[in-house]
Amino acid sequence: MSDSKSSQDQHTRRSALRVAAGAGALLLASGGLASLGGCQSASQRRVNKRGGQIGQPIAADPVTKSARPKPVPHQTTSAPTLSAKGSLSSIPSFVIARSEWTKGKPRLWLADPMKTVRKITVHHDAISPAASGSYRNSVRRLTAIRNGHMGKGWADIGYHFAIDPSGRIWEARTLTLQGAHVKNRNPNNIGIVVFGNYEKIQPTSASLDSLDRLLAHEMERFRVPIDQVYTHRELASTACPGRNLQKRMIQLRADDGRLARLSQTITNHA
Ligand SMILES: [Zn+2]
Repeated sequence: MSDSKSSQDQHTRRSALRVAAGAGALLLASGGLASLGGCQSASQRRVNKRGGQIGQPIAADPVTKSARPKPVPHQTTSAPTLSAKGSLSSIPSFVIARSEWTKGKPRLWLADPMKTVRKITVHHDAISPAASGSYRNSVRRLTAIRNGHMGKGWADIGYHFAIDPSGRIWEARTLTLQGAHVKNRNPNNIGIVVFGNYEKIQPTSASLDSLDRLLAHEMERFRVPIDQVYTHRELASTACPGRNLQKRMIQLRADDGRLARLSQTITNHA
């Protein structure tokens, strides 16, 4: 590792420590304990060399206990432009760009390129308390997850997209880079995380609508058939995405549903 990389790395580590210290203070203040346990089987090629630890504490947000998420109305959408179709460097128009929540750059020397998309995997973040659904709370949650993942020595936040309880869809890791969300199954695999612990709570209808919408969009643009749309537990030994979201994912992918019909057109024209 070069000196400049090393100092950049130290800078990132110092920032992560500062955030961790802040999170610790919040944890103490709220008396709560939350950990980044959502995808503990997720790892990345070079993680272990760096001796990263899992289970970084994150801020428990006192606001989340009372706030009820308000669904964000979907914009009327036009079909994606031709140039955006299948392009890893573009995001759907209804997705909030990564630059809106972080100025942090991925550690490119730790990441592999995505090359192409062949499958999609859905996760929960397994963090309690539930996200409030406010824009600010989602920015903090994304930042905390990213810091936790980078604290394990990863290149960046592991997932490509995140969905909050109000139905906002956030760009996380750029699709040009392979994700870090399913151990040994990361190549060509888009990772989508839904904020919440769905072993304990039910997903909001706004987050499910957005999940359905994002899955449909990415299936169509990358020609991913429905039998390549997974939940984490279908690929690895884990509770993720929690029994309640697992149940809803089975419904979303049902034979008579919109995604299955869309998949039919994908396979017919493939
Ligand atoms: Zn997972």
